[in-house]
Parts: sequence; structure tokens; C-alpha cells
Amino acid sequence: MKQPTKKQIQDAKDFIKLRLQAEISMQSHLEELLVQVAKEIIDISFKYDIQPAMFRFSANENLKRDVSGVLRKLRELIYDYTETLSVYDRKEERDAIVDFINREDHGKTLSERISIYCNRFLYEVEAAIAAGLIAGIGKDKIKGSVKSYLNSPYTNPYFKRAVYNGGAAATRIKTDGVSYGVGKSNSAYNSLNTLTRFAVGSAWMLFWGLEHKDKGYTGFYSYRGSSYPCSYCDSMVGYHPISDYQNQWHIRCCCYFVFV
Ligand SMILES: [Zn+2]
Repeated sequence: MKQPTKKQIQDAKDFIKLRLQAEISMQSHLEELLVQVAKEIIDISFKYDIQPAMFRFSANENLKRDVSGVLRKLRELIYDYTETLSVYDRKEERDAIVDFINREDHGKTLSERISIYCNRFLYEVEAAIAAGLIAGIGKDKIKGSVKSYLNSPYTNPYFKRAVYNGGAAATRIKTDGVSYGVGKSNSAYNSLNTLTRFAVGSAWMLFWGLEHKDKGYTGFYSYRGSSYPCSYCDSMVGYHPISDYQNQWHIRCCCYFVFV
């Protein structure tokens, strides 16, 4: 079996580093985007004079419509970032990469999942606005609370107090953060982050493998790229025929591959 050279190993490590930079760029764009959209929705909501306990987007048809418009833009921008960072500099393969990230996976496409998580984000923001209105804090404080609790919106103290006091109309305050069929879910930000980073990462890895296959490489060595304990990745260390190549072994996998 052909052994990888030091240079090949270094190149493979550099490739993973670049891929992680693309993923981190995805994550920071996503974070900025969600915070920005929450601010817009909070500003819109304050234009309507809705009683704190009654506050929910569907309490007013115009508010509901305005918020839907912002949501549509959010979905499109998240998709665009994901596509751009998945394609990166592989312009000739754009169509194939777009097909790959949009494939149906376990019954849903990327866009469908983005849409589901964006809806969840909307309920989080609705709850934060209602809880803030109930607590009598201003809109800047509500904006700050959404940003601070992006990772765990239902641990926001204003939210918890509103749940404790009861009587609010906002959907997630009524259910204490539980969404039907999902349970007390991960934050929309975390779900979108995992989803879009995996789309970017797996596209990078798949097309990198295909490129080597086209060049006539017949196998690859898998190496651990992090010290994170993972018995599956440990078991995959070593040589594999190119026919076994997929993309990442699993979500967030940093294993690197050297083609021979
Ligand atoms: Zn791995």
C-alpha cells in the first residue's frame, strides 16, 4: 500500500483548517443575521400597541404580515450563505454542489429544515418580546436579551418570570418553551448552526474526494483531526478503498483524509 508523504498530510490538514474557517464564517454570519432580524422584528412589534399579556404576532394581521416578510428574507439569506460557503471557490462544480446540499435527507431538504428552524426562531422572538413587554423593559433591553440568550432562549429570566406568572398569550410562554412534537427543543440558532455548518462541511469533504477520484486515486487514509473522544472515528483510522469515501464520518467530524 502506498504511504502518504509528509507534504500530503500537511495539505490535508490545511484543507480541514480552511473548511473550518468556512464553517466558522457560516456560524458568525448566522449569528449576526438572527440578531439583526430579531431587532427588526422588535422594532416592527413596537409600532403596534398590543397589550403585553396579549402580545403575539397573530394578534394583529398587519403585524403578522410584516413579520412574515422579514422571515422570508431571513430564510433566503441563510440559504444563500450556506450555498455560497459550500461552493466556495469550486465554481465549475456549482450545480453539482447545489444539488448535493439540496438533496432530500431523512425526508427533508435543506430549505425545508431552514424554514422549520426559522419558524422556531420566530416563536422564540415572540416569547422574548412578550416577556419583555410584561416586565416593562424597553425595546433595547429586549434586543439585548435576545442576543444574550440566542443559545438558550428559554433560560432568559424575563421569559422564565412570564411563564411563572402565567396568563400570557405568546405561544412559547404558554407552553414553557415546549414545541409540539419536538419537546423542549434546542434553540433555533443551535439547530440552524448545526444544519448549515454540516451542509458546508460535508459539501467540502464530498467534492474534495470526488476531485481525487477523478484524478485516479484509488484509496485514502483517515486520520483523527481532533482529540475529541469518538470511538467511531477511531475505528475508521487507516486505509480505505476510494469506493468507501463518503464525506464527513459524522456531523462536526474533523477527521482528515489523505488520498493515495
Ligand atoms: Zn471524525
